[in-house]
Amino acid sequence: MADHTGEKTRVDTSSIKTTTLLSFVLFALFLVMVLWGLSNFFLSRYYERARTQEVIRTADALEVQFRQAPHEDFDSYAVQTAGTNGIYIRIDSPDGSLIYDGTSTVKDTGAFGNDIARIRRKLESSASGNVTETVREGSSNNSRLIYAAHISSSGVVSTLYIIAPLYPDRVTVRILTNMLIYISFIVLSVSIFLAYILANRLSSPIENLTASAKELSNGNYNVRFDGASFTETKELAKALNKASYEMEKTDFYQREIIANVSHDLKTPLTMIRSYAEKIIDISGDNPEKRNADLGVIISETERLNRMVGDMLSVSNLQSNNVEMHMETFDLAAAAKEVYESFLVLSSSQGFDIRFHPCKPSYIVGDRSRIMQVMTNFVSNAVKYSGDSKFIDIKLTKGSRKVAFHCIDHGVGIPSDEISHVWDKYYRTSANHERGIEGTGLGLAIAKGILNLHSARYGVESEEGKGSDFWFEMETVRKPAEKKDRKEKKDRKDKK
Ligand code: ADP
Repeated sequence: MADHTGEKTRVDTSSIKTTTLLSFVLFALFLVMVLWGLSNFFLSRYYERARTQEVIRTADALEVQFRQAPHEDFDSYAVQTAGTNGIYIRIDSPDGSLIYDGTSTVKDTGAFGNDIARIRRKLESSASGNVTETVREGSSNNSRLIYAAHISSSGVVSTLYIIAPLYPDRVTVRILTNMLIYISFIVLSVSIFLAYILANRLSSPIENLTASAKELSNGNYNVRFDGASFTETKELAKALNKASYEMEKTDFYQREIIANVSHDLKTPLTMIRSYAEKIIDISGDNPEKRNADLGVIISETERLNRMVGDMLSVSNLQSNNVEMHMETFDLAAAAKEVYESFLVLSSSQGFDIRFHPCKPSYIVGDRSRIMQVMTNFVSNAVKYSGDSKFIDIKLTKGSRKVAFHCIDHGVGIPSDEISHVWDKYYRTSANHERGIEGTGLGLAIAKGILNLHSARYGVESEEGKGSDFWFEMETVRKPAEKKDRKEKKDRKDKK
């Protein structure tokens, strides 16, 4: 039996939280390392340079003071300067006797004798009037600066010596180290804190979206996706909300179509059964009545056939499983054929269908499928033309384009439903009230066919006023013209 008590909680190293946290901590560690490296390598160099400049500035100030101030004033000035700057100051008279040997915070002033003697010789052989020298202190990395310059007061030229250590004293080093430790600690804690906040802010909308998606997959269409405040997650939430809306819609239509189709299938099946029974029981011996009853059976089977055909067409178009027979044909002539097939309605049911042709307009497409689209538009116009019974079939030819319009003056489509009429199984709300027969598949088939032809299509409609279903395709040259030109060219080439 597996023992779960000792099981460790595994850290998901590829999660946003862990990745963000690790990245931030690594970056902070890198920063801290750079900080320590910089302070070790560059601080001493920077300190040396700054200290040298400071010593030269101090020397200039001392010279000015030496020239102007009486002896005692200079003494106190020098003592103060040596104290504040942590340097050793000495001034020798021209004959080499000591004028001033300043107190110094620099320890071991006695050891400077050699330095003074060496720099004095250097200064004597130098033309510039001042010299500086840096000396390493024993085996340590520390060094000191020795500065010597001629300074004059009342025409008498004396020599100023300054000796300054070029390394921060222990207290300063300790303060700097402590500061670095504090900074490192602050950088690390701030990074971990920020990483934690950021990781949570980044992952929480994704976790919410995942939770909602799980609910959706369980069939809860009421779930709403919340993308929090990030543009990307907001976009994702928007897309998921749309997907869930579409899923809900499809689910709804599918359920409705099952109800509708079973109802629609049941009616012809009941008719077929009752007429067949009637033939057996009553009209079997009467050829006239029997033929009339058989006629009903045939027309009901045709209706069934049409419905099943529609369903097959939609599923084939959806899976791109359709064979197209492309040819160049005149759309105006094909539209006229469609118009003529509906003419019988004009006489039998009082429809006024008018045809407004255009000049022959050749397009490349599957003629029978394009005719299926036009037939669907016109039969819808017939179905939904209400009492007006007045339909216009119009062709308009533009430059390199031809459009087919089927305009009715019937019930129209409510504006909030207009974008859905091309969806499969969609039937406008008004249909249910009127009980108009249909599967909601005709326009979905038309849409599939028109898309396969890269045609533009659409509908303009106003509720209660009627609709204009249209599509537009690019025209090509008349095929014969092409052939003629090819023949002419061939003949020319032969010559
Ligand atoms: P149906 O078999 O229901 O007619 P269609 O796919 O051909 O299916 O049409 C989808 C829906 O679009 C119809 O149910 C109807 O509500 C609406 N519709 C189509 N054509 C028209 C029209 N000319 N006028 C008003 N509504 C229409």
